[in-house]
Amino acid sequence: MNIDVLTLFPEMFEGVFGSSILGKAREKGIVSFRTINFRDYANNKHNTVDDYPYGGGGGMVLKPEPIFAAVEERMAGLQSQPRVILMCPQGETFTQRKAEELAAEEHLIFICGHYEGYDERIRRYLVTDELSIGDYVLTGGEIPAMAVIDCVTRLLPGVLGNESSAVTDSFSTGLLEYPHYTRPAKFRDWEVPEVLLSGHHGNIDKWRRQQSLHRTFLRRPELLDNIPLTKEEKGWIKEWEASRE
Ligand code: SAM
Repeated sequence: MNIDVLTLFPEMFEGVFGSSILGKAREKGIVSFRTINFRDYANNKHNTVDDYPYGGGGGMVLKPEPIFAAVEERMAGLQSQPRVILMCPQGETFTQRKAEELAAEEHLIFICGHYEGYDERIRRYLVTDELSIGDYVLTGGEIPAMAVIDCVTRLLPGVLGNESSAVTDSFSTGLLEYPHYTRPAKFRDWEVPEVLLSGHHGNIDKWRRQQSLHRTFLRRPELLDNIPLTKEEKGWIKEWEASRE
């Protein structure tokens, strides 16, 4: 996958793209990351990329010309059109489903805003997606883009050492993940649940499923609406509901 990031602060990405799992994915050639400073595409002698808003008011607005020019240069000659993703708090809220959808693409271009916002023509005539990482406002789109890129990259085949770890992740299954334990079996007075030490895979799977459902029931009950449940599982949920009343 090719991932391009348009930003005024390319140095912010160096650590993220070069470290840990993303760094290894890049080394293995599974993904290529490229940062493009759209100030290089400013068409004026002071390299200005923002200007005052028409109509007045505070804050500066990112001009359309440099961002259009940078994206169009990157897209020139490509056979298939990449997704062009605008990071903005007004966009669709990013989810694991969206990460799975984007992980199936070959090429993604992210646009990171700054200041008050973007000229509306960027939103209307250039981008294919607008993504928000949540209902709060950051100073720029760099950290939101990093979050999305990290999440998408770890889904690419060959990126995670243990492929199954992405499959059972919270939200991938539609549920929150079950609890994990590791050695020692007893830490202070707290013991690892016995079933996990039993070596009985059937019982372990059942315990994990039950824990996953229970945790989702307690913390994110709305997620259960979309999960097909067996008769036994529906029974567990009824019991939990009853014990809460
Ligand atoms: N005035 C804008 C508004 O009210 O929608 C907010 C601009 S914000 C200060 C500057 C930039 O940070 C945005 O253009 C966007 O790229 C990025 N940003 C801030 N919060 C974000 C969020 N929750 N998700 C994605 N991007 C965000």
